[in-house]
Amino acid sequence: MEEIPHIFNKRPLIIAGPCSAESRTQMMDCAQQLRETNQATIFRAGIWKPRTRPGQFEGSGDEGLKWLLEVKQTFNFPVITEVATTKHVEKVLKAGIDMIWIGARTTSNPFSIHEISKALEGVDIPVFVKNPANPDLDLWIGAIERFKNAGIRQIAAIHRGFYPYEPTKYRNIPKWEVPIELKMRIPDLPILCDPSHIGGARANILEVAQYAYDIMMDGLMIEVHPNPDVAKTDSKQQLTPKEFGEVMSNLIIRVQGDLNPPSQLERMRMQIDSIDQQLIDLLGKRFDISRNIANYKKDLNLAPFQLKRWRSIIDSRKLQAKNIGINPDFIMKLLQSIHKESIAIQNEIMKKP
Ligand code: PEP
Ligand code: MN
Repeated sequence: MEEIPHIFNKRPLIIAGPCSAESRTQMMDCAQQLRETNQATIFRAGIWKPRTRPGQFEGSGDEGLKWLLEVKQTFNFPVITEVATTKHVEKVLKAGIDMIWIGARTTSNPFSIHEISKALEGVDIPVFVKNPANPDLDLWIGAIERFKNAGIRQIAAIHRGFYPYEPTKYRNIPKWEVPIELKMRIPDLPILCDPSHIGGARANILEVAQYAYDIMMDGLMIEVHPNPDVAKTDSKQQLTPKEFGEVMSNLIIRVQGDLNPPSQLERMRMQIDSIDQQLIDLLGKRFDISRNIANYKKDLNLAPFQLKRWRSIIDSRKLQAKNIGINPDFIMKLLQSIHKESIAIQNEIMKKP
């Protein structure tokens, strides 16, 4: 195997492998097929899985570590796994795992990051820091700084999107302006994108990965499973090795190796793009509620248009706009247009027998 610093400096840096290590066969099959695609640089697998609720598959623990080492030895892949506690760090270092990543939930907690970074003092191992689940750039930078202060020299960030408060097209909201701002603040920090956790579904991976390449990202972390349909975690978003190979060969690399951050104008345009995407998602959500309201009103034989309600909408929104320096007349026009569409949607439903 090449030297780790050399591998770390490859562009694009492609990390691929299953969400979780599930069995020896699953790991070995996955690694062998990934080797055959010739597109992966580093093999990933989660050994300890952070689960939202108890009673779900929590990873294969020590046994999984053995499989990861066997992958490393048999297929000559550098291997990476997630650590969330100092105990994990001890085990990973003892086993000779090459690199580690910090999960989104862990980055959100400065106490955990502090402890993990202390446990890494004097160890020169690449550390990949995923963004915290909430879009708090300073929290993300804070974690990176703690690893820097512990003497870690090879640090990269992984953008895996942010917790969506409303259902969206993707599992996580990309909010591309956040990793772009990170690049502006720490220009020499490599940033990878994890299109699997952003996309949340196989069909979204290429689109998200392409966007990452189009802005400036230095690589990808993609979940790959030999048989995603039976995966114990993140089944919907894992690609087969063959699909992974296809995604990789369909990706257009526009500025490979170019670490120049986007210009001020490009950066502001990306912010606008991201905000527009969120506005449209929210409008979609608003119209979904209009449909539910229409069904409700239909059952009770209520009119779609209610004057009192409309007046209170206008008054409260105009006041809110005025308070933050938006022209209330503009908000009035915008609301009229939204309301018109909402009434049309409701009429359509109420017309039906
Ligand atoms: C993962 O990579 O499998 C994972 C749990 O990711 P995140 O911390 O981004 O949710
Ligand atoms: Mn996962």
